[in-house]
Amino acid sequence: MLLKILVGFLTGLRALAAGTDTTQQRLPPPPPLLLVSFDGFRADYLLRFPMPNLKLLYSQGVLVEQLKNVFITKTFPNHYTLVTGLYAESHGILSSHMYDPVSHKLFSPMKDTDPTWWSKAEPLWLTARKSGYKTATTMWPGSDVINRTATHFLPYNPDVTFRERLGNVTKWMQGDGNEQGVMFAVLYWEEPDRSGHIFGPENTTAMGKALKEVDDNIGLLMLELKRANLWGRINIIVTSDHGMAQCSTERIIRLDDCLHPDNYTVVDLSPVAAIIPRKDPKAIYALLSKCHAHMTAYLKKDIPDRLHYKNNKRIQQILLIADEGWTILQRGSTITKLGDHGYDNSLSSMHPFLAATGPSFRQGYRISSLQSVDIYPLMCHLLSIPPQPNNGTLTQARCLLAAETCGDTMLVIGLVVGAQIALITIIVLFRLLRRRSMPTPRAFQRLEVDDDDDSPLMG
Ligand SMILES: [Zn+2]
Repeated sequence: MLLKILVGFLTGLRALAAGTDTTQQRLPPPPPLLLVSFDGFRADYLLRFPMPNLKLLYSQGVLVEQLKNVFITKTFPNHYTLVTGLYAESHGILSSHMYDPVSHKLFSPMKDTDPTWWSKAEPLWLTARKSGYKTATTMWPGSDVINRTATHFLPYNPDVTFRERLGNVTKWMQGDGNEQGVMFAVLYWEEPDRSGHIFGPENTTAMGKALKEVDDNIGLLMLELKRANLWGRINIIVTSDHGMAQCSTERIIRLDDCLHPDNYTVVDLSPVAAIIPRKDPKAIYALLSKCHAHMTAYLKKDIPDRLHYKNNKRIQQILLIADEGWTILQRGSTITKLGDHGYDNSLSSMHPFLAATGPSFRQGYRISSLQSVDIYPLMCHLLSIPPQPNNGTLTQARCLLAAETCGDTMLVIGLVVGAQIALITIIVLFRLLRRRSMPTPRAFQRLEVDDDDDSPLMG
């Protein structure tokens, strides 16, 4: 009898599960998602320059005024963070120049297709492919890696114009009679980073021109998506990897003034130097730590936890971090750029922004900040894909979505709590006042005993 009940219960559970599966299959697929990065778009460019097309885009969607990106604030680590939700120490792309002490290989932007560098994390275009979606990448850092590409991809070539890159993305997202449209696509463009390095972010004339071109490209993006009948049907996130700080020939730190170059090997130089000591590391660290008032030296074990930049074999024994706007050089070299990034990710000059629009996003909504590691779980949520393990959370990012009411919920909770506090205060006051108005009870007194009654035996 008991066995029969158990079998019946399990059959029922299986039927319920099958019913759920059928329900899921019947759900319409989520809207496709396009992630666009304009490299080096410092958050306050939005306040300093007109950007009418970008403003039109987020007026119909959401704006995150500052995105707290990951250390080091360089292109490769941050672009990999956007598509993995991991800090650099976890995804293993620690800078644009790296040395691996196990394989003895060197990494640089022009030598980046070896999969061993990227294998600690899975970018979303691979996870989405495994979920059965078609995906596409155009020039995104890390998208040309051997055996780790999207369904469609354009290998990196800086000579390919924005219009051409966009044309490919639009075609892949549209699909045709034979080919299903892409569900997740990423699009990368080198500006305003290129101009920011050459002229510095404080050069209003030059940056105004560069940002006018970026904004024209955003206008083109909107136009092409409308022409392809994708606008309003897909979700679009426009963001960037990092900001830009103003550098100067008057803010130079020369390593060789402190230490002869025979003592160390430089893997990466400025504004965060990765140093391999060739002699006694402690002695070399001692010299470097006193080298310059605008540079901080760390032994690997002492790198602050908040930077999430310690637990990886590709982080070298000594790390030097220059203050904002300072450039680290070796003797003989001169400053070649008036703008740079890579500095501490707590600096607002290093932060980019985020704008998004589409059927899943709220309209005319803005928040002041968000962690860049949170964008990955947001994108997985938008695509209904189970995320890989990551350092982000949906807690704050979900407030950007139309289906969520977290901002309103917080307001309602605030109002209810406020009303309860007010009510309790009124009750307490009322009771206090009532107590005051009541007659004071007489102090306890012993009963006065009549002498006559004291002892009936007397008398
Ligand atoms: Zn960059």
